[in-house]
Amino acid sequence: MLSIASRRAATAAKSLASNRCVGAGIVRHMSVADRDNILPTSWENIFERSSKIFFMTEIWRAFWLSGEVALKPKVTINYPYEKGYLSPRFRGEHALRRYPSGEERCIACKLCEAACPAQAITIDAEEREDGARRTTRYDIDMTKCIYCGFCQEACPVDAIVEGPNFEFATETHEELLYDKEKLLSNGDKWEKQIAKNLLSEHLYR
Ligand code: SF4
Ligand code: SF4
Repeated sequence: MLSIASRRAATAAKSLASNRCVGAGIVRHMSVADRDNILPTSWENIFERSSKIFFMTEIWRAFWLSGEVALKPKVTINYPYEKGYLSPRFRGEHALRRYPSGEERCIACKLCEAACPAQAITIDAEEREDGARRTTRYDIDMTKCIYCGFCQEACPVDAIVEGPNFEFATETHEELLYDKEKLLSNGDKWEKQIAKNLLSEHLYR
């Protein structure tokens, strides 16, 4: 009398032998489900595949497709000579703005410093001779900044903003440690575009 283990082994060997498929010199073991899913190759399929190979239809289709795409309008631009659309909400390089009189907008309330989740902003402030409170130091570590825009949102006088400039890559870390002078010069440079962007968004702010 065969033990249960030896009976199981005999059944497995029988099943394996029945599932062995020999084709084109390749021996493969297949499950019953796999074997049932294989459709017999019809003469129609063989004829279709042979004609594709004989007439090189796929090569002609590729040529046709290339010609079609070549005649369509371009979807790429020749950057940096051409530039794409930039949303007025784009959050790029930071800038400190001035009033038209030339006076700094920033009143050194430090709300931006408190709001910054990356702790990228450092501000020192003191009272001026005329009694106005102004910053003596306004630094942003641009390598810490995550461009969240919270500083801009927190500012009550629209002094710190994220402008439209995205081309400010540098070769050294130090060049990305912005001080007040750099931020004010950014503001002077981009003021026209920044003011236009802020105006277009005034209903949502
Ligand atoms: S954009 Fe965000 S992370 Fe960058 S300085 Fe402003 S608050 Fe900080
Ligand atoms: S930039 Fe705006 S939020 Fe930041 S200290 Fe100046 S006034 Fe306050």
